[in-house]
Amino acid sequence: MSTLTLPTEAVVIAYDEKDGLGTLRTSQGVEVRFGASACTDFVPEQGMSVWLVETKPDPLGRGERAKVVNRTGHVEKDRLAQIWEEHAASDACYEREVALLEALGLPGEAIEPSDYETLSPEQRVRLAEGVMELRRTSRLFEEAFTALTELDPTLLHPYLGELSHQHEVEALAWTDAPSSALAPLMDALRMDWHPQQYVSVKDPVAAAALALARSGRDGALRVLEAWVGALDEGARLEALTWLRRADVVPRTSGKLVRNFTPACLEVLPEEPREDEAPVARGTLWRPIPDATCMKCGNSLVDALHLDGDGAALGLPWPARLPTCLTCLSEGGTVHVELSPDGALRSMGADRTSKFPQQPTAPRTQTLDFVPGRTWRSIMMSDGERLHRLGGAPSWVEYPEAPPCPRCREPMHAVGQVRDDDCLFSDTGMLYGVACEGCRIVTTFSQ
Ligand SMILES: [Zn+2]
Ligand SMILES: [Zn+2]
Repeated sequence: MSTLTLPTEAVVIAYDEKDGLGTLRTSQGVEVRFGASACTDFVPEQGMSVWLVETKPDPLGRGERAKVVNRTGHVEKDRLAQIWEEHAASDACYEREVALLEALGLPGEAIEPSDYETLSPEQRVRLAEGVMELRRTSRLFEEAFTALTELDPTLLHPYLGELSHQHEVEALAWTDAPSSALAPLMDALRMDWHPQQYVSVKDPVAAAALALARSGRDGALRVLEAWVGALDEGARLEALTWLRRADVVPRTSGKLVRNFTPACLEVLPEEPREDEAPVARGTLWRPIPDATCMKCGNSLVDALHLDGDGAALGLPWPARLPTCLTCLSEGGTVHVELSPDGALRSMGADRTSKFPQQPTAPRTQTLDFVPGRTWRSIMMSDGERLHRLGGAPSWVEYPEAPPCPRCREPMHAVGQVRDDDCLFSDTGMLYGVACEGCRIVTTFSQ
């Protein structure tokens, strides 16, 4: 028990920076030793006016020693106690998150990203409610939140009023957002916008533009067009690069469009769940007879190929990804033209490096497709499920949108193939885009 009345004002009368020890003299003239670790909000210096808030017995039996010293006089915990309390609070949040998952029949701590897909529609609604409740009372359960936006962003639309589009995870909730939620974002667009060097959602104008683009709503895209058109040239280029994060790109007329189709098929994993019935079949790394690359002379191959009619399944044309593996592995952007009679003609490749590569042709594999998620980020996805046709691309690096080599219009996303064996990238992905009008498919990797 301290003999002092605390908190009390004091002055640092001695301090040794080297060993982090010093002495205070209180306003009643009592001298108390202190260590730097007791000082919660300042670095001690001789002559400083401070507050002695709490003491403890000196470990060497020389009276009392300072436990908490600060510059405000507010009673607070010492730093170690603060750290313990923060840990305890974080553990409590984590336990609430695990309890939420277990209440929905999910394996709590051992959850895998694909487990979220097993939830029924009613359970998904309950998960959204639970995630929002946690956000209000402790913190955002980011993993479950991201999984919900990928499963079905409409689950989070009832909560847009309390979410922040300037928070990089919460902003995902504006994916496919209803027009009724967009008016405040439209008001936030400023024609005199001049971006910082690194555009981010911390910039309120950029955040509003990205949320509008993520909504994909026609009205939102028209307002963004007017905004982009009114910007000065430097800002306009920055804005268009930024909007690609939402896979929104300009046509040569200036019209903004989403360059992907929502329908999506993903390759069934090697160990499928019981309730997963294939809806289509396909082939991975399917050789294309009598077709060689105009640039390098090697044989062309379909990285992924749907057997059957892609259009009937809502997939983007042409539901296959013909490429030259050699040019692709040299960093090239490979162009192939498909004639209406099914014949295929190489148009060569751009951007290939000077260093020739000799990639080994991967094993041809037949596979089954199941309905996939339109939105799937790399972080939350099971690797083996990333081969896909349709949907929005899961970019490894920055979103790319190469124009059609013939008409210069933006090409739409066709599909992607994960590079499981580092054949053409460093653990990256092959992406395919196409211009149906010109019948050209372009592939590249990240
Ligand atoms: Zn080639
Ligand atoms: Zn074209």
